[in-house]
Parts: sequence; C-alpha cells; structure tokens
Amino acid sequence: MSAVTVTFLGTGSTGDPSRRCGSTAVSLPDGTVILVDTAGGNEILHALREASIDVARIRVIVLTHQHLDHAAGLPFVLFRMAMAGIPADGHRGPIDVCAPASAVDDLRRMCEILFPGMFTPWWIGDRVRWHGCTSDQYVWGLHLRDDGTTSPTTVRLGVAGEALPEGVIATISTMAVSHGAPPVPAQAVRIDAARANGEVRRVVISGDTGPNLGFTRFADGVDLLIHEAIEAESLGANPFLVFGTGHVTAASAGKVAEASRVKRLALHHLNARTGQHPETVRAEAAEHFSGGILVPNDLDTTEV
Ligand SMILES: [Zn+2]
Repeated sequence: MSAVTVTFLGTGSTGDPSRRCGSTAVSLPDGTVILVDTAGGNEILHALREASIDVARIRVIVLTHQHLDHAAGLPFVLFRMAMAGIPADGHRGPIDVCAPASAVDDLRRMCEILFPGMFTPWWIGDRVRWHGCTSDQYVWGLHLRDDGTTSPTTVRLGVAGEALPEGVIATISTMAVSHGAPPVPAQAVRIDAARANGEVRRVVISGDTGPNLGFTRFADGVDLLIHEAIEAESLGANPFLVFGTGHVTAASAGKVAEASRVKRLALHHLNARTGQHPETVRAEAAEHFSGGILVPNDLDTTEV
C-alpha cells in the first residue's frame, strides 16, 4: 500500500436505520489508521470488521463532537482495543483520543459509566491519552511520526506541494465549528498524510456544522472534503432541521467546497428519515461545485 485511503465506515446520522452513523477511517501507507468519529455503538466494530480494518491498527481517534451518532461507539472501540489479540505488527502504544477541549471530561465519563474500570491501568487506561483540542489562537495539531510516537503541536496549515516535517507521516489538525441546538463543542478535522513517495494528501472532515467563518482557509485546496449535507428538497416546510440544529444543505456544502477550491467533495450524514436521496443531494451540490462529487455508501473507499 502506497496510497492514503479513506474508508467511509458510516455515512448516515441519528435515527436513520438504513445507514450506519458517521465514522471515517483514514489509512496511511504503513497501515496506521486514524479514526474520525466512532458511529453510534457496536455498529462501529461491525463496520471495521467488514472493511478489514484491524482495531490494532488504530493509533488516533478523533471525535468531532459528543453527539450520539458520532461518539457513542468510542467505548466499544476502546473495549475492543483492550480485548483484541494484538498482531505482532499491530500498534501497542498509546492511543491518542482527540476531542473538543470542553467535551473531553464528559466523553471520558461516558466511557467510565458505560464500562466502569475502563481507564484503570490494567485495562486500557495506561494507553489512552486524551487531547483537548482548542483553536483559540492557533490551529491545534498532532504529529504522527514514523517511529511510532505522537505529539501535540500547534500547526501552520500546509499548502499544496509542501512536504510534511522530517519523520512525520501525518498531521492532524482541528478547527472549532458551530453546531447543535443547544450548541455543543464541535470541530472540523484535517489530516495531512504522506503517501509512500512523500507526496502529501489532504483530507478535511467537516463534522456536523453550520456555516463557519474561516472554514475555507482550513480546507483550502485539499484533495478531499468530506462534508455533511441535508438535501433542501427533503426539508419541505421544516427549515428548523438546518437552521435550528446547525447543519447545512447540500447546496451550502457545494458552495463551501467551491470557495475552498477543494479537488473532490464527499457528502455524508444522510438521513432517510427526512427523505434524503443521494442523487438529489449530489445534484444540489453540483449546482455550486465544479469538482468531483461522491455520495458514498457505508464501506465505500477512495484513494486520495
Ligand atoms: Zn451532531
């Protein structure tokens, strides 16, 4: 494997029985996996198994926010990582769990309530390192190095054609975004990852979000923008679904992608409950975005 691969483990949202809740795996050429969101429960373990992604390969888990369809799979992933027969070449080191700073205590508590003792040293507690992401002054970031170490940093966002620092195989950075009614701390995630030949590929995952100042800077020119989208046609007389809950329409996602000059746009967080149709979502975004558009199904993969 020389490429950076994105696997859409779950492409749906809360209350949609036809798709898994949101989770995306980014696989690096050395087999390392960065997991962004954890779907809504045990379904994350089904998805990882069906995608042939060994939990022992996961080195970093990033949560965009605490909503159940993004964070409720976390204790299942950590439980499985503690239980799994680790292959000889699997990752045994620290597991970096990154979440909005003001959500970390609640997420940790959620795991402890659902599985008392999870963070005791004899279970998995001595491996989990929590990172509270902030974006007050600088973009928060985490460097993954080829020697297996990771370290938090503040990062300057890379631009096309620029290499990663020496020894770094991926940089994860986050940007606070607005979401939720009531609002919850939420973040977009950017992964700058090196292919085997050193070329850097860039992926941004919006998380759930309303419109955000500065997002076009965060996502500027990236290879793949994975954005949530609600199809305007399905909203009918209920615009609250967008304006009251901090989501965006597919048309807005298309405008953001165009303004950010991204190469491809993947639309997810679909919800059959509101009558969303992949082709309508795609068509609404395509009115505003001239690049390639994917509306992936669960377990679809794409190289970046
Ligand atoms: Zn949400």
